[in-house]
Amino acid sequence: MKIFFDKVSYSKKPFKLRVDNITLQGSLEKKDYHKVELDGELSGELELICYRCGEQFYKPLKSPLTLTLTDRVVEISDDLDIIEFLDGVIDLDFILNSEVSSIQNYYNLCSNCKSENREFEQEF
Ligand SMILES: [Zn+2]
Repeated sequence: MKIFFDKVSYSKKPFKLRVDNITLQGSLEKKDYHKVELDGELSGELELICYRCGEQFYKPLKSPLTLTLTDRVVEISDDLDIIEFLDGVIDLDFILNSEVSSIQNYYNLCSNCKSENREFEQEF
């Protein structure tokens, strides 16, 4: 789903998109000429790979997502909550996919390995 930066208004515009099992739902609101605030929530079932045993597993996902979108180059590059869309087109699929892959890149443990971890910790 793509939305032209200029088309976002100063009143909240709701949106909803779904990629695979994950839904991103929320609103877009223009804050100033070069800034749009995304206020939403990710929900669904995320497919993850356990980093210990390599098993695929599913994890229910429900997490708020607040981002600032801009069509300008951001000078403060270490602010991860700002995403640049320099061509003036907000790509919501890109946002959803990058959020999902950043969660998938964590050290995710399946429930079996999680409980093994707990037992391991209790021995000490
Ligand atoms: Zn595992």
